[in-house]
Amino acid sequence: MPLKRSLNLVQRLLPEASRGDVVLAYHLVGAGTGAVVDLPVREFERQLDLLTERFHLCTLKDLLAAPAAPQPRAVLTFDDAYANFVEVVLPILERRRIPSVLYVPIGFVQGTAKAPLTGAALPACTFADLRAAASAGVEIGSHGVNHLNLRRASDAALTEELRRSREVLEQELGRAVPSFCYPQAKVDARVERATAVHYESAVAAGGRRHLGGRPHRIPRFPVRRDEARFEPMIRSRLWLTEALASEVRQWRR
Ligand SMILES: [Zn+2]
Repeated sequence: MPLKRSLNLVQRLLPEASRGDVVLAYHLVGAGTGAVVDLPVREFERQLDLLTERFHLCTLKDLLAAPAAPQPRAVLTFDDAYANFVEVVLPILERRRIPSVLYVPIGFVQGTAKAPLTGAALPACTFADLRAAASAGVEIGSHGVNHLNLRRASDAALTEELRRSREVLEQELGRAVPSFCYPQAKVDARVERATAVHYESAVAAGGRRHLGGRPHRIPRFPVRRDEARFEPMIRSRLWLTEALASEVRQWRR
């Protein structure tokens, strides 16, 4: 590859790759549902060991506030506000002083939340749970009102899902809720534009491996009960970071 083209490529990749940041999407831990997104406690703890060893763990707000950091950063996000979060996940995170983000569909609060894939009704957080979590440092984000596929929602329904969920959460928590999570990971250009009117950032599921420059289309790595997949993902990001940094160092000599 001619040097100029290589330089262009690296210049394009480096702002993202040099960070090696990752946002992880979790659902349940030790809830006994059998769902692939319900991780055994031991597996979750092993992931936390690996993450704390290699990453600086922070909230999404911290990640977005500083576009670059000396160490790769990881953000742990949890979807759907199951009571499982306050009963199982939060005590583990608090013991290890690990920050996290919880995305709440306000229509589930005080009632039940549908288990991923199986659709079984699981107990959801109450507003008191959410207030306690927020006081413990958990960043609370909105996951809409009714967990709808927003791509299929009318313009009016879309606006209402975005606006009302933020309003209710901010009223109940007494703090700002600047971040959104697309329900069912469904997003397109129209949904993204509308979301940008109401929120400073929004996360999706899956997507490209690097955090792009689009604050309303932040990709996340969906964590499944599959140990074989988690570690290579973590390693591959660091590998890319290190490989590119060493390339650049060589060219600068
Ligand atoms: Zn969800």
